[in-house]
Amino acid sequence: MKDIPRLRFASLPTPIERLPALSASLGISLYVKRDDLTGLAFGGNKTRKLEFLLAEAKANGAKTLITTGAVQSNHCRQTAAAARRFGFECILVLVVPPGEELESYQARQPSGNLLLDRLFGVEIVWAEQKNRDSTLQAVFQSAWDEGRRPYLIPYGGSSPAGASAYVYAIQELMSQGVHPDWIIFPSSSGGTHAGLEAGARLFGCKSRVMGISVDETAAVLSQRVASLAVQTADFLSEKLKIFPAEIGVNDDYQWPGYGVLVESEIGVILEFARKEGLLLDPVYTGRAAAGMVDMVRKGVISSGSSVLFWHTGGTPALFADRYSQIA
Ligand SMILES: *Cc1c(COP(=O)(O)O)cnc(C)c1O
Repeated sequence: MKDIPRLRFASLPTPIERLPALSASLGISLYVKRDDLTGLAFGGNKTRKLEFLLAEAKANGAKTLITTGAVQSNHCRQTAAAARRFGFECILVLVVPPGEELESYQARQPSGNLLLDRLFGVEIVWAEQKNRDSTLQAVFQSAWDEGRRPYLIPYGGSSPAGASAYVYAIQELMSQGVHPDWIIFPSSSGGTHAGLEAGARLFGCKSRVMGISVDETAAVLSQRVASLAVQTADFLSEKLKIFPAEIGVNDDYQWPGYGVLVESEIGVILEFARKEGLLLDPVYTGRAAAGMVDMVRKGVISSGSSVLFWHTGGTPALFADRYSQIA
């Protein structure tokens, strides 16, 4: 595998912990890979990706990082933190949730990730879903015209450079000596999923890699992940052939839509907190954990299996006003 540029600032390897109480109640051996502890402003999966994305930005001579996400985007919060740490300017294009008024959002007190974006003092440009891409394009163009040397980090940091972080994360997992039957995690822009899938193949990891879709149908997500996994391998000078039908995706739990918290998710967030003292987040890991528990109950994950739940972070969203109904 080709060595690619990387800045090292994540706290790695992240710990793997066994969850005894939940293991007993679910009848499986449940482990959690603590990527909520990667460091950089409360951690999460984007810290790993940003090690590669920032190296690429630096190599390109960039001065300004531009990216986009939802108001409670962990990716945007972590990009803002990374920009501050490594001396980049940063512009975030934040998209208000569907049905919300742009103006009323701007007027509100910031909470959760948005509060942290403000704390980092980066530039924020607001958009609605329907004009997100045109806004992003316009922001990039004007930064370019002003000589600010922008580098565009795609949604979720899911470029081949970003996704390659999770190829290495599989190598890290294997070196920790844990070989679970299943690897379960939330999947959205697909970079984590693509990296894990490519990594499992390149390093001969036998676990079933299963992404719980947060906001897409399996048809869309598996296509995206397969194609990004191939591109990511290519980026690392490796050849892989991966078809969408080979991607492990479960889209049974995405129906409420992105960021919409439902009862089963609140239930699992409370259960993890109260049985294990472990915090899940209301957008990603809450959905994935609720899906995992349902898969165990239905026997899709058979009893006695060893399951590694890959905790991708996102916990600052627990402090968002939007989710104050949790407890
Ligand atoms: C971004 C994010 C994900 C999804 O990762 P993708 O690589 O975008 O699929 C999962 N969990 C958390 C907490 C995230 O912030």
